[in-house]
Amino acid sequence: MMILIAFFQADAYHTERLNMVRSQIENRGIKNPLVLEAMRKVPRHLLVPEKQKANAYEDRPMSIGDGQTISQPYIVAHMTDIIKPNKGMKVLEIGTGSGYQAAVLAEIVDQVFTIEIVENLGKKAKADLEKLGYKNVFVKIGDGYQGWPSEAPFDAILVTAAAEQIPQPLIDQLKEGGRMVIPVGKEGAVQELILIEKVKGKVKTTNLGSVRFVPFTRND
Ligand code: SAH
Repeated sequence: MMILIAFFQADAYHTERLNMVRSQIENRGIKNPLVLEAMRKVPRHLLVPEKQKANAYEDRPMSIGDGQTISQPYIVAHMTDIIKPNKGMKVLEIGTGSGYQAAVLAEIVDQVFTIEIVENLGKKAKADLEKLGYKNVFVKIGDGYQGWPSEAPFDAILVTAAAEQIPQPLIDQLKEGGRMVIPVGKEGAVQELILIEKVKGKVKTTNLGSVRFVPFTRND
């Protein structure tokens, strides 16, 4: 009986997830089949706090405790799409949070290195990602401002907290031809999603429009 209930519940979440991808992601113009397939696979309901499980596939960000949030599904798909993910890539994420964005990336690319400044969140995300069987995600607790020098350079860097300035160490750790996406702006103010490309050693910046993220914090 328990097994049967668990089976029907899992199936209900699967249906919700497919609907989420169609209505929130495809309908808003995201076409990359790798991104859509990854979003259809990752069990978002298993990466949100237990009491939020039933709301996991709603079209909004959600609290994950410690004053932090898991991004809205569309934002995760959009940021993943922007870096043009592909197998073989090595990606750095700053702001692990729930681990959801890291899991979506891990479905597509070779390796994901992710840094979280809030110890509780980093530990929980690491445990959850292990439970889900992701062997290609590496979680570190610390200030992501300095990046992950021993693993650099990266094919792509994704920052999921809004910084007032783009951290230079992250630009330095981006591979030639690499792409970095980062929300830039003050807390509570309008923030812009910025794409940074390294082309022939030069840094090219493109503004992709307004967004709202939790602030990028620093360890004192
Ligand atoms: N990518 C996450 C969303 C996390 S919200 C997800 O998919 O759930 C942003 C996260 O960035 C928060 O957890 C916050 O604690 C973290 N953060 C803020 N400043 C940071 C920094 N300097 N280094 C690492 N993580 C940071």
